Amino acid sequence: KPDLSGRRVCVTGIGVSGMAVVHALRDHGARITVIDARDDATTRQRAVELRSAGVSVTLGSPTGTCHLPPDTQLVVTSPGWPPESPVFQEAAAADIPVVGDVELAWWLRPRGQQWLAVTGTNGKTTVVRMVEAMLRADGQRAQAVGNVGLPVVTAVGGTEPPHDVLAVELSSFQLHWSTSVAPYAAVVLNVAADHVDWHGDMAAYARAKGKIYGPGTVRVVNRADNTSQELALRQGDPSTPLVGITNDEPRPGELGVVDGALVDRAFDGGAPTSGQGIVLAPVTEIRPAAAHNVSNALAAAALARSVGVRPESVRQGLADFTPEPHRINEVATVDGVRYVDDSKATNPHAAAASLAAYRAPVWIAGGLLKGADVEGLVAEAATRVRAVVLLGADRAQLRSALRRHAPDLPVVEVERVDDRAMDEVVSAAASLATAHDADTVLLAPAAASMDMYSDYTARGAAFVAAVHRRVPTG
Ligand code: ADP
Repeated sequence: KPDLSGRRVCVTGIGVSGMAVVHALRDHGARITVIDARDDATTRQRAVELRSAGVSVTLGSPTGTCHLPPDTQLVVTSPGWPPESPVFQEAAAADIPVVGDVELAWWLRPRGQQWLAVTGTNGKTTVVRMVEAMLRADGQRAQAVGNVGLPVVTAVGGTEPPHDVLAVELSSFQLHWSTSVAPYAAVVLNVAADHVDWHGDMAAYARAKGKIYGPGTVRVVNRADNTSQELALRQGDPSTPLVGITNDEPRPGELGVVDGALVDRAFDGGAPTSGQGIVLAPVTEIRPAAAHNVSNALAAAALARSVGVRPESVRQGLADFTPEPHRINEVATVDGVRYVDDSKATNPHAAAASLAAYRAPVWIAGGLLKGADVEGLVAEAATRVRAVVLLGADRAQLRSALRRHAPDLPVVEVERVDDRAMDEVVSAAASLATAHDADTVLLAPAAASMDMYSDYTARGAAFVAAVHRRVPTG
């Protein structure tokens, strides 16, 4: 754990995590310079706030470039910064270490605090929230941190007494910039194409995720995902337990499903066991009810059990867990058709999971595909959905894939992109549901939302509002 007092640290990026990093560094006596390539209203306002607190701030030129201050000893970067940024080349040339916010948090964590870490293309937020609920039901002081809300660097200094356990959501970007993070137990839930542009290629994206298995980390792996298993074997510590999760019957050393219940055949009071297993909770307790979410619950249970959470607390935690908005939420039933909001399905892998949870829905899809390959998803959708409504910037790519895989499937395209667009989308979906006798309309875009909305939350809220406008009043 390096001594930060008096050290000259350059923080790149003043987003939410950058601001949290600055505050943590200040508490530890570092001398801080902040740089941000963006020079806009938000960064300027934050710069004013930081300067008044004695932090030196440099905002980028109009071309978005900025440079490392000459006397820098350590760089703490925000996860989103492009890895090819000149700042990192300058740091490498001068042999200055570069770390991310999570590495910094790891250095600063209180003694004895355990981390249970979660990464994966989809399901991270859901799983850390489930873990948090299970730990709390067990009476432990626990907090879910990361993209879920509280930055991890804030949580490590947060409370007195400190949290016993953190359930840490880690992105591939954050793991890319971590060097010594070694959680007590960790899981890579799944690996599918997303953010591949940033990492360069799929192998680099997966490798970043594999860094979650540090020295001594109990390795939880998803038996249904080959990459998850490979990463644990290749990058994990071979001396630690390998704990599988499976939606089928568990073998010794696994958690799985037997007769409609989650069963643990891996942990008996924290130590691996090979007995018949301990029943944890009925599958019906898991919300939202969907196969991929059973696997999320198993991952959460494995992490919780690794630190000794009792079986009844796993069950209580699942009962206490409140599903996050815009992740397979049933909005309303209008004229016998239920409307489901999975706006958070921002990549094809998430949309596929959600389509698998419903029989013959009208599927609403489209937005920014971020270069993702939709062939597999559309081939699957072609056999499962009754009709499709397309919206957003990259809908042509979805349309042509649909023509190839399902030339007879009814498809309506909404060209509108203004704030009434979602009304048109929902109205088209309602007509298709009636015409083709579908009982579900499912928003699972398989794409990011930034072509039309500020984020997936705004897109989901627009959908919810449009559905509610169709509910007859009086
Ligand atoms: P993340 O934090 O990784 O983005 P979320 O829990 O917010 O994960 O879920 C993101 C999206 O992925 C939602 O649309 C959700 O329905 C879907 N999803 C959640 N868990 C899984 C899973 N295990 N496999 C596939 N899709 C999933």
